[in-house]
Amino acid sequence: MNVLLLCTACGHRLTEPLRLLPEVPPRPEYEGRKNPDGSRHAPATMPRGTYAVDPEPCGAPYVPHPDPDWCDAANPGNACMGDPDGQGFVMSAGPRDTLVVHPGDARERLEHNPATTEFGCCGPPGREGPNAVCGGCGAVAATEFRDCTGAYETHFLPEAVRVSGA
Ligand SMILES: [Zn+2]
Repeated sequence: MNVLLLCTACGHRLTEPLRLLPEVPPRPEYEGRKNPDGSRHAPATMPRGTYAVDPEPCGAPYVPHPDPDWCDAANPGNACMGDPDGQGFVMSAGPRDTLVVHPGDARERLEHNPATTEFGCCGPPGREGPNAVCGGCGAVAATEFRDCTGAYETHFLPEAVRVSGA
């Protein structure tokens, strides 16, 4: 059955019709090639028209990882960021159970969060926390990972959306 994700605050529709996958698919290998449309982001993790719940922490805030050699480049919430205050890398301590969709299934219905000022190479890297708000009411809704430095995914905050029958 297809569902829609709606804004909890105002009921605005935030996605295209989606069907639930049992888990987030393995993140595709990224070879840095240009996409047919000229963009350079990684292949999308989620197929169009699907969503999944990500049990892993996602996005900001970040904390230092205890292992200096650890690096989880595949996870867009981690993305192998160097620890600005020390050795090694930081890892996400952000929200769990975010709802992950293909960025193209939500982009048109979201607006930029004016509270974030990050700037990416090809799109927002998603490292400052939720960078997208509801296009209807402006409530903070999601983190878009759309840069070429990591996976290509949009993660909705679990409390910001409700799942509705299409
Ligand atoms: Zn809203």
